[in-house]
Amino acid sequence: MINHVAAKLDSRVSPWLHTREGIASVSVSVVVFWILWAAVEVPLLAALLGAAFAILLVSLGARLWESSTAPDPAPFSTFEDSVDGCVELRHDPNAGFWRDSRGFLWGDRIWFAGTGCPPTQLRPDTYLRLRGWCRHGDLPVFVVRVRRRQWWWWRDAFYWESGDCGPEDAAALLVMLERDDEQGIEWELDARLAEPIPEDVKRLVYERDGGRCLACGSDELIQFAHSVSWATDGRNEPQNIGLLCAGCSRRKAAGGPNRSHAASASR
Ligand SMILES: [Zn+2]
Repeated sequence: MINHVAAKLDSRVSPWLHTREGIASVSVSVVVFWILWAAVEVPLLAALLGAAFAILLVSLGARLWESSTAPDPAPFSTFEDSVDGCVELRHDPNAGFWRDSRGFLWGDRIWFAGTGCPPTQLRPDTYLRLRGWCRHGDLPVFVVRVRRRQWWWWRDAFYWESGDCGPEDAAALLVMLERDDEQGIEWELDARLAEPIPEDVKRLVYERDGGRCLACGSDELIQFAHSVSWATDGRNEPQNIGLLCAGCSRRKAAGGPNRSHAASASR
């Protein structure tokens, strides 16, 4: 139990310690502690409290800095699609990644935006992982989900769909798009993705699964995954849907016929 809590804490704290916010917080708190305890000679407990307070202040400052320097959304980013539109798949010429150096203490940041997707920050290691998948994999790479749309990165272009596709669905559709097979896409959308997952079912699933991947516990790049894929008669019921991160979702798609992972994990 204690080991479990320690491991969990470590998985949160270690990445933070490698950020500029983490390094600045710890450095300032050490200096504050030293001044209070050694120079001003306050009691140990008061010096420790002062150090903790310094961490809080620096973290708060970092959050304020980050939010005040976030990029302004381009006009295409603020486009809103209707809540109950039909399922679509589109090439998104506006979508793309960019880097800026205006983060806390001039740290590098990676952003993504698209049509209807406001600037969304990705951790640099996440971006590198996505780029690696994009270069080496034959499956499209899930980038972000905003409202009903999911963006996919495939062969140096970006696409969005509003059918909560898994990587294998997205791959089938994009191959047809590449072949200019309009009819095939229409058929595929009708046959497999005619009904997007209702918003209330998504909310229920998201809360039930705690916003984390059922397979690995990550809270990054989260997607809704049908445990029985649409091609094999999947249904939009909560017990048939689970959360998976993009990595686990790719592994599941590459794993072939065994598609019941999300369902067995959620039981
Ligand atoms: Zn996962």
